[in-house]
Amino acid sequence: MKTNRPENPHQAALLRLLRDGPRSRAQLNDLTSDGMSRSKLNAELDRLIELDLAEPDGFAESRGGRRSGLVRLSATTRFAAIDIGATSVDVAVTDGELNVLGHVSEPIDIRNGPAPVLDRVFDLVGKLREQGLYRQLNGAGIGVPGPVSFAEGVPVVPPIMPGWNRYPLRETVSQELACPAMLDNDVNLMALGELHAGVARQVDDFLLVKIGTGVGCGIVVDGRIYRGVSGSAGDIGHMMVDEDGPLCPCGNIGCLEAYFGGSALAAQAESAARNGTSPHLAARLAATGSVTAEDVAIAAAQGDPVAIQLIRDGGRRVGQVLAGLVSFFNPGLVIIAGGVARLGHILLAEIRSVVYRRSLPLATGNLPIVLSELEDVAGVVGAARLISDHVYSA
Ligand SMILES: [Zn+2]
Repeated sequence: MKTNRPENPHQAALLRLLRDGPRSRAQLNDLTSDGMSRSKLNAELDRLIELDLAEPDGFAESRGGRRSGLVRLSATTRFAAIDIGATSVDVAVTDGELNVLGHVSEPIDIRNGPAPVLDRVFDLVGKLREQGLYRQLNGAGIGVPGPVSFAEGVPVVPPIMPGWNRYPLRETVSQELACPAMLDNDVNLMALGELHAGVARQVDDFLLVKIGTGVGCGIVVDGRIYRGVSGSAGDIGHMMVDEDGPLCPCGNIGCLEAYFGGSALAAQAESAARNGTSPHLAARLAATGSVTAEDVAIAAAQGDPVAIQLIRDGGRRVGQVLAGLVSFFNPGLVIIAGGVARLGHILLAEIRSVVYRRSLPLATGNLPIVLSELEDVAGVVGAARLISDHVYSA
């Protein structure tokens, strides 16, 4: 069974408008004042209904005169959203408007390589199918925690994904699920998620800084992800913040990620636990044998001065890099996301103070710096948005 696609840019534009919810023909006419006559609009809508991409949805309230027929996306439209992380995978099925109908999550170890991880992914997709959430998928969006060649649909030398280099991930998922698929990195997907359903809904130009195991930045320009020439735009984790700094696993000196990010923070917390400067972290280390970024957050919330200082130091480094990005890009919004973002308000306050001090007033005068709204679901919503942008294009 093959799913239909729009036949021309007019139909694609109508589908993208309907992705935000049902509209009357009159509303659509108001929203598409770019040279589509009313009769042309009606013909394109009728064609979308014939193609089973859209369907009639009753009648709108009268605006005086004849009541305008409502149109919505086909009720059978389904997208699969696959968000592969370093230690867990999330799979969701959405409708055409990208409402999440079902969402399952499972621990994995990405270092096991593509075959066992994809086995789990396809099992989870199958589980959602057994629950009756779909019969046929219109597309699948996939995210991975590493650099991706967007044009080829393959990961490229991903540092934390041994065995995945140039693995034909987009093609494999497309064949297995019998639908179009698109692949991007996890940071871009989070940015798309916030753009579609989170804090960035009304914002066309913004940055999303993800501070997880590593650090990366999603760049949205004019409502679209900016990927650069080869897909590596926003890879800010290896920008240098101190030329006398520590050695980074990438081989360079003083990278942002070597200072701050889940692994760097955990290492700093462990040394504070061992040298006796932080009783909170020492107790944690004694109890569990390790300390994590989350333990730092808990210790900071309990007022542990060493934990608070670790977060402030990290926030200052992120702020330094971000101040440069803000001067360069002049975004309308900066979103801080990822596991380490749960360090919360101490982190946010430090980042804000550095950026507001270091960037020019014209750039920061109207610049909110906020925490992610969607957190754990940003990736799957972004994956659905990615594939729907592709399917609803011509
Ligand atoms: Zn590095």
